[in-house]
Amino acid sequence: MKRIKAFICVLFLLSASLFGCEVKSGVENKLKIVATIFPAYDFAHNIAGDSADVSLLLPPGVEAHSYEPTPKDMVLIQNCDIFICNGGESESWIDEIIDSLGDRDFTVIKMLDCAGKLLEEDEPDGAAQGNKGGDDLEYDEHIWTSPVICADICNKITDAMCKKDAGNSSEYKDRCIKYSDKLLSLSKDIEKTVEGSKRKELIFGDRFPFKYFADEYGLSYYAAFPGCSTQTEPSAAAMARLIEKTNEDKIPAIFYIEMSNRSVADTLSEATGAKELLFHSCHNLTRDELERGEDYLSLMRKNLENLQIALN
Ligand SMILES: [Zn+2]
Repeated sequence: MKRIKAFICVLFLLSASLFGCEVKSGVENKLKIVATIFPAYDFAHNIAGDSADVSLLLPPGVEAHSYEPTPKDMVLIQNCDIFICNGGESESWIDEIIDSLGDRDFTVIKMLDCAGKLLEEDEPDGAAQGNKGGDDLEYDEHIWTSPVICADICNKITDAMCKKDAGNSSEYKDRCIKYSDKLLSLSKDIEKTVEGSKRKELIFGDRFPFKYFADEYGLSYYAAFPGCSTQTEPSAAAMARLIEKTNEDKIPAIFYIEMSNRSVADTLSEATGAKELLFHSCHNLTRDELERGEDYLSLMRKNLENLQIALN
């Protein structure tokens, strides 16, 4: 946090040096949008098309929870028209930066404001388990794992873009409708898969940033760690419970998430014979994934393919 304060202090000096000698052109008059994490960037990018410039602060392959803004990032934020963030605990640095910008006229969208409620923190014996009736609440800020909520987020982003750039509003609205249709069609396909599957239960030998996803589709879950916990070793009791559940319910596949060392999933797989499958949380993409043209929709479609295997 000290580093962030120091950055804020040099922000205005940098801003003057980086932008003071800029040659204005038509391109620079485009709406400027800055997003902190990949889903926010991807939604804004799909709605903006070529009519606005959208920047992502998180560099490719960087773990979202270890990100800290650089002075250059701060300048981008200071000069944008719309700033889109998730707004959870892992982005606590944001409020300080917004405060430092005083009454500057820019719109801040916190994706978490689209959530009906924030769940309270609860870590039952080092493992996350839930969706068995609502009495086992746990904190989760990964709101974008529900494609239905993502459609609400897209509407919010579109409203802000139309207000800031009324001249392109019909394009923004058209693109939003088309993109939301894809999100809702993905959601319908997930619903159908879950409805037609033998099981309604997920086992994660990893962190579990998918509470919004599980709740949306009525799936119960058992995971080594809740949310994006920084824990790396589950308790012996949590590990025993995961092995027991996997064996008891004859779960064919257990999940790990991207950028994981897979140590818990490996151990679980060895102990139970269940295969290991990736479930991508879409916090961020690697350079390789970006070069392959992956995005939120393509990764969630891959999650759906793996879900089909794990639930049958
Ligand atoms: Zn996370």
